Amino acid sequence: MSTHTANAAATHNESMFEAVLARLDIAAKLMNLSDDVSLILRNPLKQVKVSLPVMMDNGKIQVFEGYRVVHSVAIGPSKGGIRYAMDVNQDEVMALAAWMSFKCAVANLPYGGAKGGIKCDPRAMSVGELERLTRAYAKSMKDVFGVNKDIPAPDMGTSGREMAWILDEYNKMMGEDLPGVITGKPIAIGGSLGRDAATGRGVMVNTMAALKRMGKKPGEVTAVVQGFGNVGSHSARLLSEQGVKIVGIGDHTASFYNEKGIDIKAALDFVAKNNRVLKGFKGATEIASDDLLTSKCDVLVPAALQNVITEDVASKIQAKLVVEGANGPTMPEADHIFKERNIIVVPDILANSGGVTVSYFEWVQNKAGYYWSEDEVNTKHDEKMELAFANVWNNAEQFKTTMRIAAYITALQKIEQGVKLKGHY
Ligand code: NAD
Repeated sequence: MSTHTANAAATHNESMFEAVLARLDIAAKLMNLSDDVSLILRNPLKQVKVSLPVMMDNGKIQVFEGYRVVHSVAIGPSKGGIRYAMDVNQDEVMALAAWMSFKCAVANLPYGGAKGGIKCDPRAMSVGELERLTRAYAKSMKDVFGVNKDIPAPDMGTSGREMAWILDEYNKMMGEDLPGVITGKPIAIGGSLGRDAATGRGVMVNTMAALKRMGKKPGEVTAVVQGFGNVGSHSARLLSEQGVKIVGIGDHTASFYNEKGIDIKAALDFVAKNNRVLKGFKGATEIASDDLLTSKCDVLVPAALQNVITEDVASKIQAKLVVEGANGPTMPEADHIFKERNIIVVPDILANSGGVTVSYFEWVQNKAGYYWSEDEVNTKHDEKMELAFANVWNNAEQFKTTMRIAAYITALQKIEQGVKLKGHY
């Protein structure tokens, strides 16, 4: 993943963990969650902060801040990505770790939640500097990471390349090959087929499931997708393959609209030859980026930044269905507008859980030492995602609440069982 999203989101990060807790409280009250479990989940299990001295190319040492937060291990080892961005801080990592606990529980994966990060600007660093920083981070996390303990993955600013360095460093410390200690690896060293497109695939499966419940056929609806990176581009491609007409796309360089439908294959070919950005694309009319989210469509997929849907934006959105490809695109104060306007929101912890689901499959394949075909991965993914959607939808009906709160309830029902069955001191 690239770092485009990092800086634009920085201004809203101050209270991210509080925002998670606010939604947890609403769900906890509705489902009558035990106070003990609620208290446990308000306090991440482990918070590690490290200083990482790294020799830069200019011969001088720079010291970087590194974090890893393990939020919960109630239903299995903790799982969560590592983010490289300048706005990485304790609060953000705590919030993202908690989201991972809920995301894994919603997707019915045997994992708790964690997240890690390094405060750095990867785009301003050489490959050598990034490798030394990544290896220093991996070394400092020797006692945190583990195949059956805490399993990291890529997040913003990191990719399979960093995962390979971490695996190599970890293997050297342990003296054996342990590919299951990390997911999102390149295929040649134990990665899973289907992982690259998995988050977009999850967005597509969730969209299809929601449209079905709304009594709409994919061929009758239009969609707008914000973000044309990993999640956005695969979402747009897979939705269009289902017959959805994609009328709007955009990234940090430009946004486009075409009511007749955009040829997504042409857009993908264009970005592949254009430094992975949309600026200059000729298949649609360029529009102001601020207008993309509120442009005319039936389905909106925010798949770029967090906190882009404010109360004001929510009140202008024309879509009847919002499927959150990005983490945290909707500000908590905008939730009630969607509710009042009867706009269905498939929340991030459900909508983008396809990525961690296939990460789980990667871990299972690593442990078995036996690798599946892409079709097998996709079939298993789709089954899991459809079940997760149905569970959340049913809870939304049963508790007469939004899909977002229902997703928290679904997760908390599972985590509560884990906490209670394992017991306390
Ligand atoms: P990416 O870096 O591959 O793509 C991000 C896209 O957002 C790029 O196209 C970029 O140009 C665009 N963007 C940045 N700023 C923008 C702006 N101001 N306006 C419009 N577009 C803008 O990242 P990604 O992996 O696609 O992740 C996107 C979101 O999805 C993040 O919130 C991430 O945490 C979340 N997510 C990703 C995965 C995954 O497997 N990649 C899994 C779960 C959640």
